[in-house]
Amino acid sequence: MDLFKKCFDQTRFAEMKQAGLYPFFHQITGMQQTTVQLEGKEVIMLGSNNYLGLTSHPDVIKAAVDATEKYGTGVSGSRFLNGTLDLHVTLEKELAEYLDKEHAIVFSTGFQSNLAIISSLVGRHDYVISDKENHASIYDACRLSWGKMLRYEHSDMEDLERQLKSVPKDAGILIVTDGVFSMTGEVANLPEIVRIGKKYGARIMVDDAHGFGVLGKGGRGTADHFGLTDEVDVIMGTFSKSLASIGGYVVVNGEPVAEYIRHNSRPFIFSAAIPAACAASALEALRVLKREPELVDRVNEMAELMRTKLLENNIKMFAHDFPVMPVNSPIIPIIIEGDDILTCAVCKELLAEGVYVNPVGPPATPPGVCLLRTSYTSLHTKEIIEKAANIIVNVMKKMGLCK
Ligand code: PMP
Repeated sequence: MDLFKKCFDQTRFAEMKQAGLYPFFHQITGMQQTTVQLEGKEVIMLGSNNYLGLTSHPDVIKAAVDATEKYGTGVSGSRFLNGTLDLHVTLEKELAEYLDKEHAIVFSTGFQSNLAIISSLVGRHDYVISDKENHASIYDACRLSWGKMLRYEHSDMEDLERQLKSVPKDAGILIVTDGVFSMTGEVANLPEIVRIGKKYGARIMVDDAHGFGVLGKGGRGTADHFGLTDEVDVIMGTFSKSLASIGGYVVVNGEPVAEYIRHNSRPFIFSAAIPAACAASALEALRVLKREPELVDRVNEMAELMRTKLLENNIKMFAHDFPVMPVNSPIIPIIIEGDDILTCAVCKELLAEGVYVNPVGPPATPPGVCLLRTSYTSLHTKEIIEKAANIIVNVMKKMGLCK
C-alpha cells in the first residue's frame, strides 16, 4: 500500500476549509500583546500563554537585540559541545536560585525538556507513572524512555496508588504530572501525589509549563504554591509562556542527578542549543519577574474578572463547579456543548466580532468535551476583559449556547 494513502484519505481539514471553519495557522503580523493584528484585523488575544505579558517588554526586547549583536543569531551546535554560551549558564544559575533548587539545565524547547528529562531518568527496569491528561510531550517522553509507562485516571489518587502497587518492589519509579493542566487550567493535587508517591519510594516530577509565573510566591510555580518544593524531585518548565522566549529547563537537587541528565539525554546532547537572543530574553524576563512580582497578581486578577463575568452570564466553565483542587489559574476553558465543528464555528464568529480564542477538543481535552480555551495575561486591562466578555456572551447567546 502507498505510504501516502493516509494523507490522501484525510479530508477533514480540507472540508473545514471549504466550509470556512478552519481555525488553525492564522497569521499574526505584529507583537503578541493584548490585541494582535491578525490577517489585517485587530483582535483581542485570549489565546496566548504570554501570561506575564513580557514578550513585548522593552527590557526583554533590548536584551534579545543586544545578545544577537554580541553573539550572533545561532550557536551552531549542542550545549554538550560548542553550543554552550555563558548566557545559558547564567540563566541556569538564576533559574535554580529562583526556584530553590541546586541545579538547572536549559534545553531547546519545553517539549524537548520533557523528552530529555524523562528519557534519561527512566531506564530499562524503571517505571514512569503519568496522569492520563498530561501534556503530549510527556506521553512522547515516556515512549522514548526504555522504562515501562503506566497511566492513572486524571487526578484520580486511588488509581495512582493502584498503579504504584502494581510496580515490582525493586523498580525505580517516576510519577509525572502537569502542575497546571494545559487545556483545562486545573491544578494537580500535588499534596496527595507527594504523600502517596513517597509511601512507595517514587520520585516526583512536575511539568510546570503553565504553573511558573502564575502560581506560588513570585510565580515560583505549583510546587511552591503548595509548599512542596523540597518534596518534588524534578521540576520542569518552559520559556515559551511566562518567560517570553523559547526553550525549557529542569531544576533538581544533587550534582549527580544534574550530571546524569546532562550526559545521558539524547534530545539534549544531539540537538542545538537555543540562540543567545532566546537565552537573553528568558533571562531578562526572569529578572523583570523578580523586580515586578506584582505581575503575577495582575494576571490572576484579570482571569478572575473574566471568570466572574462569565459566571454572571451563565457561561459554563470546565471543572468550575467541581475542580480537582480549589486553585484557579489564568486558563479559563469555556464548555461548548457540541462537537468540534460547532466549536470552530463559535471561534469563527468570535473572531469576526474581534476576539481570538483557541478551539480544543479530544484528544487534547477529556473525552467528549469541546472547549474554547481562553487565557489571560498581566497586560489585559479591566476594559479589555469586559469588552471581550460581552462579545463572548453575545456570540454564545446568538448561537443558542447559553441562556
Ligand atoms: N508541557 C506543557 C504542559 C505544555 O503545555 C507545553 C506547551 N504547550 C509544553 C510542555 C511544551 O513546551 P514548549 O512549547 O516550550 O515546547
